[in-house]
Amino acid sequence: MATIFSRIVAGEIPSYKVAENEQFYAFLDINPLAKGHTLVIPKREVDYIFDLEDEEIAAMHVFAKKVAKAIKAAFPCIKVGEAVLGLEVPHAHIHLVPMQSEKDMLFTNPKLKLTPEEFKEIAEKITKEI
Ligand code: 5GP
Repeated sequence: MATIFSRIVAGEIPSYKVAENEQFYAFLDINPLAKGHTLVIPKREVDYIFDLEDEEIAAMHVFAKKVAKAIKAAFPCIKVGEAVLGLEVPHAHIHLVPMQSEKDMLFTNPKLKLTPEEFKEIAEKITKEI
């Protein structure tokens, strides 16, 4: 059965898309730690990020770098933090989170509750910077 993220890539489940190329897809995390919290995934379904091929994990980071720069331009922050957990969704993904402090990377923090309009606005703001 396809993962929830594969269904997002296929357009079967809606997402707030930020960027896409042949191999990768970036979209807003639905339970964001901060405005601009984005997930980068390979379109190919692989659970564990460190099971990706060398070329694939390298290309994923080049793609994530572009997205991270756009996030920083859209949502000024000290740096964009990168994290890999993968404990909830068995489809490799990188979290990109704009940080004002180290605490912004605590995944146990309460998540932001945003309206569909806010999500849409955030995704558009990032996409414009790519
Ligand atoms: P992890 O697997 O890295 O522990 O957590 C999965 C992340 O994916 C969580 O931050 C969660 O909010 C996000 N997530 C789970 N399901 C969906 C979904 O259907 N849409 C979006 N946009 N994000 C999701």
